[in-house]
Amino acid sequence: MAKIMKAPGKDIQAANELDNLGKHVKNMGTKFLVIISKRNYGEIGSRIQSSLEENGYTCDFEMFGGECSLEEIDRLAAAGREKACDSVIAVGGGKAIDTGKAVAVRMDTTVIVVPTIASNDAPCSGLSVCYNDQGVVCKVIYGKRNPDVVLVDTEIIAKSPVRLFVSGMGDALSTYFEARACQASGARNYCRGTAPNTAIAMAKLCFDLLMKSGVEAYEAVQKGEVTSAVEDIAEADILLSGVGFESGGLAAAHAINDGFAQIPQAHGALHGEKVAFGTLCQLILEKAPAEEFDQVFQFCKAVGLPTKLADLGITEVKEEEIKAAAAAACVKTQSTKNLPFPVSEEDVAAAIYKADEIGRARA
Ligand SMILES: [Zn+2]
Repeated sequence: MAKIMKAPGKDIQAANELDNLGKHVKNMGTKFLVIISKRNYGEIGSRIQSSLEENGYTCDFEMFGGECSLEEIDRLAAAGREKACDSVIAVGGGKAIDTGKAVAVRMDTTVIVVPTIASNDAPCSGLSVCYNDQGVVCKVIYGKRNPDVVLVDTEIIAKSPVRLFVSGMGDALSTYFEARACQASGARNYCRGTAPNTAIAMAKLCFDLLMKSGVEAYEAVQKGEVTSAVEDIAEADILLSGVGFESGGLAAAHAINDGFAQIPQAHGALHGEKVAFGTLCQLILEKAPAEEFDQVFQFCKAVGLPTKLADLGITEVKEEEIKAAAAAACVKTQSTKNLPFPVSEEDVAAAIYKADEIGRARA
């Protein structure tokens, strides 16, 4: 299999960079469809409009409905066509960004992504995960290429809710370990190839930046301050983790995160929180050196990522639920199979119990 990687056309990151958006969209379009939530529309929307107009462009706004569904994508694409827009700007969190990327696919235009939180891997990837009315994944839409521009304004990220920022670190925490597992097994990444060394190096840098700057960034974001640590973590969470998962591949951590969908008690937990706990489980499955496990565990403790089931909302541990989660993490289509050794449902359940036991013992 060929080594293949994908990345955004341009990745731009700085405090207050949103006010320069219009300078970064040359040749991308002339009239932009801005997909944005009502909450972001006021201040962020007007800054986007000013910067575009200063640079000779126009835009039209469409409010994002809140879910990345096929109906929402069709509605926004129809609105974009009707308004004769020739490019899309997607503003917000993972769902708004995934929706905007899919709308650009439908309209066959360029897409500019402006994340307002650093809580997940959506901004840099070339795919959109769509959900049905029941909140279940129903389709993945792949773009011809990854976003043309990703613009990260770290001033906005630093003032986002702390829990979302921490969740982004949880999502980024798994990137290296999952890419490493895929490299060892030769598993396919999300570019229909295997990971080039470049993607593995990016995944490793992602982990190293978390270890170096994660705790400091956590403290800065509590005060809403942009520091060099916050810049490091924004880069790790958005660029390195985004490229790292798509081009490196996923393994048990994300599969276990998906498995937790089977446990209603965990429904309040965020994606990155479940992925962080899934990372601890993956390290147990891999029989990783104690030193490595401890480093990840201590990091989770230091920034408030889950280390035991109760932290995910699972206060009443039921055997049948853990069994269902482990089974869901091991179905054929799941990435647990990307580990470089065979893993059974029983192995995954045992790893979940073991991680929980360690977390409770060291609480
Ligand atoms: Zn993720």
